[in-house]
Amino acid sequence: MKAPRFAYARPASLAEALALLAEHKDDARVLAGGQSLVPMLNFRVAAPKVLVDINRIAGLAGIKITKTQVRIGALARQVELEHSADIARHLPLVASAMPHIAHPAIRNRGTFGGSCALADPAAELPACALALGATFVVAGKKGERRIAAEEFFRGLYATALKPGELLVAAEFPLPKPGYVSAFGELARRHGDYAMVGLAVHGSTAGGKFSDLRVAFFGVGDRPTRAARFERALQGQPAAASSVEAALGELNGDLDPRADLQASAATKRHLAKVLAGRVLRSISA
Ligand SMILES: Cc1cc2nc3c(=O)[nH]c(=O)nc-3n(C[C@H](O)[C@H](O)[C@H](O)COP(=O)(O)OP(=O)(O)OC[C@H]3O[C@@H](n4cnc5c(N)ncnc54)[C@H](O)[C@@H]3O)c2cc1C
Repeated sequence: MKAPRFAYARPASLAEALALLAEHKDDARVLAGGQSLVPMLNFRVAAPKVLVDINRIAGLAGIKITKTQVRIGALARQVELEHSADIARHLPLVASAMPHIAHPAIRNRGTFGGSCALADPAAELPACALALGATFVVAGKKGERRIAAEEFFRGLYATALKPGELLVAAEFPLPKPGYVSAFGELARRHGDYAMVGLAVHGSTAGGKFSDLRVAFFGVGDRPTRAARFERALQGQPAAASSVEAALGELNGDLDPRADLQASAATKRHLAKVLAGRVLRSISA
């Protein structure tokens, strides 16, 4: 099948893009890397009247480091995150997630913002944003607003973005000393969306777990923190025995639904296996 007819606009500035989005609201769709949107158009899952191509807006690109944060522009390509020395140094969780996203050809065009705005529940970057306590920067005709990752992902392919708004960037606080992170994913084939995945960030200073943020993906309608599991590990020795003792808490944290990949029971089992592996990797 081919895409239905649509009008195409390629604004050169953020103001121009926002004016177009405000004018066309629900009839408009932002085009970033096109790696998800173009197949959606061709399958006629989406039929916007206007495509607003943001690829020429220079201010949306790039990765910037300040004294307190890493700011990733919405248009930063996934390949850029994969090979960035700044990301490897300051956000190693993101660096380790990148090779799991699709394949090189898709990462060459696919953007950070496109992945987060799409909010696929099995996607890697939204879970990393949640684990790292990122804040999303969203622009509309009335100005900018900031939304914590916890509030940004609202459900299956649903975010806090309103019609007429554009995701501009995400701000990640620079990790504090003593903080570590780890990533793991179980997929049928390398590059497939995850059956179950996990992004973890927190402190192991003094040989104890503290301030852990354990974000699962592929086990619900959005990336989900395992709050009971995190509480059970708080203040415990950063050791395999603590992890084993806490794994049962995941029964209360996770309520996976069966999908094309696996039954709910299999997902629950895989989530525990993965949590054991990933948390042990940051234990003594
Ligand atoms: C075969 C295949 C395998 C894949 N495997 C994975 C995988 O394992 N893990 C994974 O995470 N992803 C995977 N993807 C998806 C890929 O990462 C996409 O690139 C990504 O999800 C969307 O990014 P994009 O820049 O291409 O966005 P687009 O396709 O251009 O847009 C996606 C959606 O986001 C909206 N959007 C884009 N940018 C913005 C913005 N700045 N503000 C507001 N809305 C915006 C668009 O309107 C659209 O609704 C796969 C894709 C394919 C085709």
